[in-house]
Amino acid sequence: MTHPLLDRRQFVKFGTFTGAGALLLGCRPTAPCPPPPPATPRKVLTLTKDWQQALTPQEIVDLAKAGNRRFVRDERQDRDYLHDRAATAAGQHPAAIILSCIDSRVPAEIILDAGIGDMFNARIAGNFVDRDLAGSMEFACQIAGAKVVLVMGHTSCGAIKGAIDGAKLGNLTALLEKLTPAVRAVKDVAGPRTSKNAAFVDAVAAENVRLTLLEIRRISPVLAGLEREKKIILVGAMYQVESGDMQFLD
Ligand SMILES: [Zn+2]
Repeated sequence: MTHPLLDRRQFVKFGTFTGAGALLLGCRPTAPCPPPPPATPRKVLTLTKDWQQALTPQEIVDLAKAGNRRFVRDERQDRDYLHDRAATAAGQHPAAIILSCIDSRVPAEIILDAGIGDMFNARIAGNFVDRDLAGSMEFACQIAGAKVVLVMGHTSCGAIKGAIDGAKLGNLTALLEKLTPAVRAVKDVAGPRTSKNAAFVDAVAAENVRLTLLEIRRISPVLAGLEREKKIILVGAMYQVESGDMQFLD
């Protein structure tokens, strides 16, 4: 089912073939008609400035949810990258900025069925925020017009496992220490507090998303102000690497 908001999006029609077309092929009523060729799918185009400005933050969140549902069902929309590349060459109008992990199984545009120019994409192992990433978010929202900051953790996260186990390796040691507040905050999961306990690992990842949202508000008065004015939404989600499903957190 197509999300109603998608009707507002621009499409390119490459022609469709309807049942009436069978008559044009000379098919006689006494002979079985060959099945018509499948309709050529319509292609979805990148966001325009007008559409970015017309969307509300909640509508953008709903679009993200709809895109993930299409990904889960393998109903991804066809895209015209040649058009999108040309259309965005002189400027971009993304709807959101997503902070997610570097994990190769979590490519934001794919799992949200989005395209070129649709979203900013910030990635760091363990999807935590620092001032540089907060500055990137401020650019995305205050300057470029994005209206959603989505922090997306994921199940079976190697960075979270490393933080739980206290892994040490070069610069990674200091990075993983940024995730330890989430490890300490999770108290109510049964079983060992090790990376072997998948429920504990995923609970820490979800807690890390919640703490990251709080940290964004703490270190960025710009983003906190935009949120207070209801110009943007800050939202968290957990991506399930097994099913492809993205569950938004309260
Ligand atoms: Zn990860």
